[in-house]
Amino acid sequence: MSDVTDIEGRPARNIARPDIPLISIIAPCYNETGAIAPFVAAMMDIIKAGGVRYELVFVDDGSTDDTRAQLSALADRYCEIRVVAFSRNFGKEAALTAGLDYAEGDAVVVMDVDLQDPPELIATFIEKWRDGYDVVYATRDDRGADTFAKRFTAGGFYRLFNKISAVKIPENTGDYRLMDRRVVETIKTLPERSRFMKGLFAWVGFKSVGVDYARPARTAGKTKFNFWRLWNFAIDGFASFSTAPLRVWSYIGGVIALLSFLYASAMILITLVTGNDVPGYASLLTFILFFGSVQMISVGILGEYIARLFVEVKRRPIYIVDEVYAGEGAKPPARTAAD
Ligand code: UDP
Ligand code: MG
Repeated sequence: MSDVTDIEGRPARNIARPDIPLISIIAPCYNETGAIAPFVAAMMDIIKAGGVRYELVFVDDGSTDDTRAQLSALADRYCEIRVVAFSRNFGKEAALTAGLDYAEGDAVVVMDVDLQDPPELIATFIEKWRDGYDVVYATRDDRGADTFAKRFTAGGFYRLFNKISAVKIPENTGDYRLMDRRVVETIKTLPERSRFMKGLFAWVGFKSVGVDYARPARTAGKTKFNFWRLWNFAIDGFASFSTAPLRVWSYIGGVIALLSFLYASAMILITLVTGNDVPGYASLLTFILFFGSVQMISVGILGEYIARLFVEVKRRPIYIVDEVYAGEGAKPPARTAAD
């Protein structure tokens, strides 16, 4: 006899209710020691509100603090909680991918564990889902909790992304969203290794609607995304969803060729008119440096795409699971199970 209960204290076997929809909450965690307890406390209130059943799928993304121990203790205690622990840090995008692979709900909600994605929104998500929307995403109408630099760069990134990519990401939208099972199944069929999840979420389409919210500050700890990580994230986004950075070089080349032709014509004319002397050391050097840099930038951009091809053809798994924690009888019973 196990002492695993559900979050409301009932024996685990009593939660089989195939008639009530199951919502999976996916929360990636990386060194979130101070954030987990407040998150679980907040989620318990949501779960107890009832109406639907919940399961919580935590993905421990190779934390080096006691995040994993905290999560596995929760999985031992409550039948709604499962923990997928990675063998090392694979990044949030991989953690979300694993969460989608392991979730079993009729709908799936992905959210951060730092309570920057307010759990109160889940009720609205479910309402919209019941109205027939396949995707309900949260839109920050106030990024007051973010630094100016982050707001500025994020705004610029999404505007540029939406200009050059065929797939449009709604502005001010993070990962926080509810997705119907068929959306999740579609995302699971996408095989790529560079997983810019926001792009993939948008790429699959389906009937979507946004819900506004004000983004609060983190409960505990600090952001895992420093400038360099965000920069690489942005490049990943561009390179995964647009070939414009590659193609633009043909046009740049064309324009420069035209300008060179005009310049050469002018030089020939001037030489014919004023006779031949050889000044122009400074302009010559400037041109050499300029074209050298332009070529290096274009080669660098080629490199970005070749590096991604390299990663894709290796076909390594997106993440490696070290261990899955689920208390005895913890897995929510299959929807077909008799109550
Ligand atoms: N996260 C993760 N792996 C990482 C970095 C972050 O699973 O390598 C998780 C983190 O624990 C949090 C979520 O992703 O639940 C969002 O991270 P964070 O709050 O640092 O990002 P921000 O809100 O500043 O964009
Ligand atoms: Mg956060």
